[in-house]
Amino acid sequence: MIGDMQKWTPNVASIIEHAKNLYPKQEVISRMISGEIHRTNYEEVCIRSRKLASALEKDGYKKGDILATLALNTYRHLELYYGISGMGAITHTLNFRLHPEQAVYIINHAEDKIIFVEAPFVPMMEALKDQLNCVEKYIILCDKNELPETSLKNAISYEEYIEGGDENYVWPELEDDAACGLCYTSGTTGNPKGVLYAHKSNILHAYAALTGLTVSPDESILMVVPLFHVQAWGIPYYGPMFGLKLVMPGMQMEGEPLYDLIEREDVTLAFGVPTVWMGLLSYCRDNNKILKSVKNTVIGGSALSLAILKEFDEVHDVNVIQGWGMTEMSPLGTSNFMTPEMQKMNKEDRYAMQLKQGRPMFGVELKVVDDSGNELPNDGESQGHLMVRGPWILQRYFKADKDAVDQDGWFDTGDISVIDEDGYMTIKDRAKDVIKSGGEWISSIDLENAAVGHPDVAEACVVGIPHPKWDERPILFIVTNSGEPIEKQSILDFLASKVAKWWLPDEIIFLKDLPHGATGKLQKFELRDEYNNYYMEK
Ligand code: AMP
Repeated sequence: MIGDMQKWTPNVASIIEHAKNLYPKQEVISRMISGEIHRTNYEEVCIRSRKLASALEKDGYKKGDILATLALNTYRHLELYYGISGMGAITHTLNFRLHPEQAVYIINHAEDKIIFVEAPFVPMMEALKDQLNCVEKYIILCDKNELPETSLKNAISYEEYIEGGDENYVWPELEDDAACGLCYTSGTTGNPKGVLYAHKSNILHAYAALTGLTVSPDESILMVVPLFHVQAWGIPYYGPMFGLKLVMPGMQMEGEPLYDLIEREDVTLAFGVPTVWMGLLSYCRDNNKILKSVKNTVIGGSALSLAILKEFDEVHDVNVIQGWGMTEMSPLGTSNFMTPEMQKMNKEDRYAMQLKQGRPMFGVELKVVDDSGNELPNDGESQGHLMVRGPWILQRYFKADKDAVDQDGWFDTGDISVIDEDGYMTIKDRAKDVIKSGGEWISSIDLENAAVGHPDVAEACVVGIPHPKWDERPILFIVTNSGEPIEKQSILDFLASKVAKWWLPDEIIFLKDLPHGATGKLQKFELRDEYNNYYMEK
């Protein structure tokens, strides 16, 4: 028997309409390229999104067309999210840090018809344009009088493009499970793969994300996570859904401008990856600054280290919520927010809890399996391949000819994890990064976290390198606070108190910088390739 309730074929545009009706004057703040702070609100964002949708329709664009953005975190990018997807087309967010070859591959694979380009990226597109036959038009995200001289096809400024759009545009009905957004995986091996999100999955994900946060309406949130990567963890949807003030840093994500923005806009909750927070914390440390308004920060994308957690807690009195997820999961899978139980713990135990990646929000199922696919117990010790299932998790990559899940709908995340008796999941490694030494596994993440606890270490990366006797042994790469090498023995002594003796790296190498990919993650394969023969040749 079918229930008697109303049918639901959602359109994400209903979120921005809701924000316009309920929180019309709630602010949307953007730091523009010039450094100037731009202020608008949900009412204006909604009306301008309607104008964009109407302009696109007048220009002949239709439901199902894929239109790309190469843009920063500003109000215009937010309007693109709603204007493009709301009219039934698909918002394809491009990462401006991509290698040019990958950008060409992705744009052609998606068959993007328009690219909305931030003015500083115009030269990048000009260099690629001859390889992009699918693109009919480039819309530059600027005012009419700021349009740069460009050889890009049919280039027009965004403001001129939406000028004639209808303020009273009515969003269309969409088909059930209509596609909404497209994002390609970072792709450290092989070509990037597309993940095509649906309106329904995005809205469900937004609801779920709110259950994994400590946030109340009217809070001011800093969205450092980029709109070009996995839908900025869903913030562009649940922000307006919940009437949150949105603060966006544009291009300036270094410690000083971030601190300045946080102070000016009374940010209470800030979202970002560990590398961004390392920059902010070191700016605060060097300049005796305290984060006064921030109460919570959500950290994900890479493992949270004890050093970051402690500094936020002890110096700034900021609570850290770790989140874990991936492009294929829209992206959120787990979160680890402070429970009353955790509040009662002594600091050491509480920190140990907070370093876990957290529990899944309702809708996401997790399990760990061994190499043969047998489910392992949730005992906090059995380590295996982390599998996930749920309504905002990928079924099949864009244009692939077969599903990416097994016959029971489980998707292999590529992460190696343990789950404890209470359902808390801890990432031990990426399957391809785990170090196999003498038949046992060493977690590169645990070693890195231990190393960054050393007072002179700013960043650490551990890579398994082929070894004639042990199969693989770790090398620890370190960037020190001063940028200069320090006594290796002091690091080994420090690590010896934190990890098993056989985990200790056989070699420590000091670097000025570690290789980071387009989304801030460590590119371990670069170091692995470079040092592949290190132990063999010794
Ligand atoms: P991406 O699809 O580029 O967002 O990358 C997803 C991957 O990032 C996951 O499969 C994890 O390996 C890693 N990741 C994300 N969040 C965390 C976290 N909190 N701790 C450790 N690894 C993480």
